[in-house]
Amino acid sequence: QYPFDVEAVRDDFPILDRKVGGDPETPGQGEGDDTPLVYLDNAATSHTPDPVVDTIADYYRGYNANVHRGIHQLSQEASVAYEEAHDTVADFVGAAGREEIVFTKNATEAMNLVAYAWGLEELGPGDNVVLTEMEHHSSLVTWQQIGKRTGADVRFVEVTDEGRLDMDHAAALIDDDTEMVSVVHVSNALGTINPIRELADLAHDRDALIFADGAQSVPNRPVDVADLDVDFLAFSSHKMCGPTGIGALYGREALLDSMQPYLYGGDMIRRVSFEDSTWEDLPWKFEAGTPSIAQGIGFAAAIDYLDEIGMDRIESHESLLAEYAHDELSALGGVEIYGPPGDDRGGLVAFNVEGVHAHDLSSILNDYGVAIRAGDHCTQPLHDELGISASARASFYVYNTVSEIDALVEAVGEARDLFA
Ligand code: PMP
Repeated sequence: QYPFDVEAVRDDFPILDRKVGGDPETPGQGEGDDTPLVYLDNAATSHTPDPVVDTIADYYRGYNANVHRGIHQLSQEASVAYEEAHDTVADFVGAAGREEIVFTKNATEAMNLVAYAWGLEELGPGDNVVLTEMEHHSSLVTWQQIGKRTGADVRFVEVTDEGRLDMDHAAALIDDDTEMVSVVHVSNALGTINPIRELADLAHDRDALIFADGAQSVPNRPVDVADLDVDFLAFSSHKMCGPTGIGALYGREALLDSMQPYLYGGDMIRRVSFEDSTWEDLPWKFEAGTPSIAQGIGFAAAIDYLDEIGMDRIESHESLLAEYAHDELSALGGVEIYGPPGDDRGGLVAFNVEGVHAHDLSSILNDYGVAIRAGDHCTQPLHDELGISASARASFYVYNTVSEIDALVEAVGEARDLFA
């Protein structure tokens, strides 16, 4: 029934076999762990398969060295692998080449890079930046603060009762003074899949740029920057089977070329005198200092891993799980689910159980070994709009199964009954 062999995939993730319930003071298989783990917190971070762990270990064991500068063999090997990792990421999202892929710490840093390097230079009083009410804090807070510093107005496209963007409102907000439209591709709170191409057309018709937050789309579905016609795209490796500490910014080459560096220092310069400096070629101009080498190489290994499964199949798998979870949780009764219908959402479901605070729910689910997230999911203003302070969120990935969703639904039912 699955689009690929999920059991074979699970074999690559030994962490899925561990038990939980012991003392968290002893991380990793602790004393007293006896409950099977059901990991449904993938939108926060995904797990790392053996081939990726092995790639990172091979780097440290076999060719650990600083990149770019060295003439010696190890440095050359590390440089080739690190630089080629940019090609792998570029291919994965349909970028023209490594010039268009800057490695950052995470998606958040990619957004800050553009907000600082482009926004502080280009924005001023009279200009506006258009966001949506469902933005993650990583873009919302960033543009809000850049707006304060530059005098630019920051506007928010409203979300409909069904959890979709009000596109008429978007068309009204994007005007001749709009310089940037920054939109989350798939909402990490509502699961909404936003019409990025349509928004890109609206932005470009007004000579504005569009930035897509791909943190919840690039890991889960095929994403092609040319098809979406976006100017910038941000995403994080740790949500797509890769290590933490690395993410990527895609930017159109001409734009990145025209932007000033965001961080200064070693590795990003070509020539330095006491008076002035010139910059390295793209993308190195934006990668100051020693980069996250092992993480970059691990990121590329994660992409190879996902490519092997196939992004189309991953998208189908997650749709199947999201729809099933949505339907089963709805059928329980006493559960309010946020966002669009089950058959039209990314691989996550945020919800509340009547009379049970999301944190209590998450804590009870933890007793059943079911790992979900509870809180505002870095979307406080959206939660304010929904009239709630927190929600519970289950999010799915390549290794999740229907029976794990059954375990979730059963535990949610028990929690509901406990508080009834
Ligand atoms: N945007 C969205 C939609 C997200 O879900 C997240 C991660 N929760 C981010 C941005 C930020 O990602 P990171 O924390 O890796 O920078």
